[in-house]
Amino acid sequence: MIFKFGKKKQAEILEEAEVELIRFQGALNGVPPEMEANAKLVKIALEPLKELFTDAVTRRADTIRIEPKGDRATIAFLIDGVAIPAGRVPKQRAHAMTQMTKVLCGLDISERTQPQSGGVKASVGEDEFELKTMTTPVAGGMERLLVYIRNLDEKLEKPEHIGMPSELKLAIRNLTSGRKKLFLVCGPSRTGITTTLYASVRGLDAYLHVIFTIGDTEGRSLLNISTFDTDPTHDLQETLRRCIRVEAEVILLDPIRNAEDARVVAGFYDDAVMISEITAADAATGILQMAEWLGDGALAAKVLSGVLSQKLIRKLCNDCKEAFKPSPKLMKKIGLKADEITVLYRKASPPVEPLPKGEEWEPCTTCDDTGYFGRTTIFELIEMSEGMQGLLAGGADATALREQARTEKMRTLKNDAMRLVADGTTSLEELQRAFKGN
Ligand SMILES: [Zn+2]
Repeated sequence: MIFKFGKKKQAEILEEAEVELIRFQGALNGVPPEMEANAKLVKIALEPLKELFTDAVTRRADTIRIEPKGDRATIAFLIDGVAIPAGRVPKQRAHAMTQMTKVLCGLDISERTQPQSGGVKASVGEDEFELKTMTTPVAGGMERLLVYIRNLDEKLEKPEHIGMPSELKLAIRNLTSGRKKLFLVCGPSRTGITTTLYASVRGLDAYLHVIFTIGDTEGRSLLNISTFDTDPTHDLQETLRRCIRVEAEVILLDPIRNAEDARVVAGFYDDAVMISEITAADAATGILQMAEWLGDGALAAKVLSGVLSQKLIRKLCNDCKEAFKPSPKLMKKIGLKADEITVLYRKASPPVEPLPKGEEWEPCTTCDDTGYFGRTTIFELIEMSEGMQGLLAGGADATALREQARTEKMRTLKNDAMRLVADGTTSLEELQRAFKGN
């Protein structure tokens, strides 16, 4: 496979040659791809493109990026949230591959000065995928190509499927089924907060509550939960009013993106449980964002019941992770009890000493020697306790809110992450990477 990096044994190359290539099954916009009119392009670019996409999908990448730089273009995959180099190609070939992608997506290949987005359905073996593409013009008449890959067979919407601990599920259920008010899920965009939001709603018993969703469910089906029949001429205010009139007890809203929507939603805090999402790095930041939009910390304290935030972290590969005995000093620093935990785990590294003759360091094929395989979610939940409400009404900053959460022993991202270090799911190195910039 030409896009693999690093040395491969002959046997592995042969094995890989038998991997079934991706099949494209029609543009998402319904425009038939003009293969005959672009026969020359198809001849030079279709096969390499299929190999690249197949490689990405079989390595569990969720994004492919082709970035032109001078005479060449670099290709990278995003695997478990980390960019992994996937080769370099001459710029002409990158151009042909990008144009071929546009043909498959039913886009205009003569347009290269404006960004274009589209998508194509595809399958590899039994697995169905949806590839969403975006091209952006860059210097030298070239275009950057981004491909977002979604495995349509992956169903990760139940709380237990996203690694949500049962105590947390219970706490969310308490916050969203008894009292009214607004419950928020927040996190950086594209990190699965919508999935968590849906998981939170699925955790509710739809037989006990009248649950409606307002807005875009992105094609996800929510068992036992009705989609409210919205009227496009009605604004959010009117839609919420109508939804409450039919005795909705729990309402799942579209993300709150501005002060106007925040104020409308706040106006109904006493009428139903509302669940929504906002983009914010963590729960404390999300709470302060709401306070800013509402222009009043005391009002935000009254309106919110709790804020859940999350972060994705990579799991160590079970086939190659290695145990080590942490020093008492390290254990003290990270706040784990040395008498309870005797080993921690880390990514295996090649031996420093030369191996005995005839033996070779064998890279792990499960994780492509990255040391990690798959991701899990860590959570934090700030409940609007009396202490928290008082602080927010008094204009406290994020540090003070976080400190209060620690004092009240609420679940924080960092202590939740340490739980996964302690049980060997992830490594300290991964936490360092994931929390960088926070
Ligand atoms: Zn491995």
